[in-house]
Amino acid sequence: MKDIKDLTFEELKAELAEMGEASYRAGQIFAWLYHRGALSFAAFTDLPKKFRDELAAPYEISSLELYGVFRSQDRTRKFLFKLGDGSFIETVLIPAGARATVCLSTQVGCKFSCPFCASGLKGFVRNLTPAEMVNQVLFLKHHEGEPVTNLVFMGMGEPLDNFENLAKAIRIMNSTEGLGIAARRMTVSTCGIVPGIGLFKSLGLQVNLSISLHAVTDEKRTRLVPVNKKYPLETLIEACLDYRKGGGRKITLEYVLIRGVNDSLADADGLARIARRLKAKVNLIPYSLVQGLPYEVPAEDTIRLFVQRLEGRKVPVTLRHSKGTDIQAACGQLAGRPFNKVGVKATHLTF
Ligand code: SAH
Repeated sequence: MKDIKDLTFEELKAELAEMGEASYRAGQIFAWLYHRGALSFAAFTDLPKKFRDELAAPYEISSLELYGVFRSQDRTRKFLFKLGDGSFIETVLIPAGARATVCLSTQVGCKFSCPFCASGLKGFVRNLTPAEMVNQVLFLKHHEGEPVTNLVFMGMGEPLDNFENLAKAIRIMNSTEGLGIAARRMTVSTCGIVPGIGLFKSLGLQVNLSISLHAVTDEKRTRLVPVNKKYPLETLIEACLDYRKGGGRKITLEYVLIRGVNDSLADADGLARIARRLKAKVNLIPYSLVQGLPYEVPAEDTIRLFVQRLEGRKVPVTLRHSKGTDIQAACGQLAGRPFNKVGVKATHLTF
């Protein structure tokens, strides 16, 4: 069976042409799938029965099975979904006033083994399909009634390591016939997959790009973000400069602050130099604790001095206070576990 939600609007039109159907049917199908959240072809009541049957022969309409919800005191919610093959993924909803940001997963597990992050601790299982990415958002929109306004591809996995599927999912979510989420309200984050950055630019969309920098010397970065061995800092910076050429959008540098590891003023100076070269903003993320890992968050004073040092060097900087730490929904805490042991009562898990 093929999954109809793996198709972009253009691909669906091409499929319909092959079936000898009018291309306006693509708009009707997308409206059922993405505007109304239909879960069966039988629900497509404005389409002839014969055509619905023709669609249902090769295609299925997939959806995600919700396995549990964790609710944070700060209103952040984490959704644990069970996939067809028994894998688990997590999606986080972060409400903020009239906005609601969804943090999506793009892979089950992760290949890149950053030693401070929970997502790669159990290695890599597989890529998510475009449908599995889109369904995370659809679920929150239709089942939870959440007006999803912003998307960040910052959940489990490395988006640029699953580029083709990512690109399709972005197109489906961005198209007005699909979920209609503006590209400027989407952000893809990468640990620094250099060829992926070029591909991402070639999409020609206004989707934002964040780079997980985390260290400013090759020696330290290779320890914290091991893919740095393959794509060292200077190569990564060149790729970012290329990305910015010709009016490319601003890049954000993400920098997780880990006590005694990368939180010195010398680190701040190195970060300021790179940010200024790239004319990038810096987003500092105080480390979120991961059970079993030896890393700690810096003292508040250290964080404040780090911020001031960057500001003193005229670098635009924001300090992101992680949401949902009490339910392990914060940056780097997503591991796709059916049960959380720390700080979460079983009653937070609903089946
Ligand atoms: N693989 C992509 C997408 C994941 S985004 C990437 O690396 O960018 C998740 C972000 O949270 C990354 O910047 C990651 O380095 C960061 N992160 C991982 N573990 C963390 C932790 N324990 N505390 C704070 N941030 C963490």
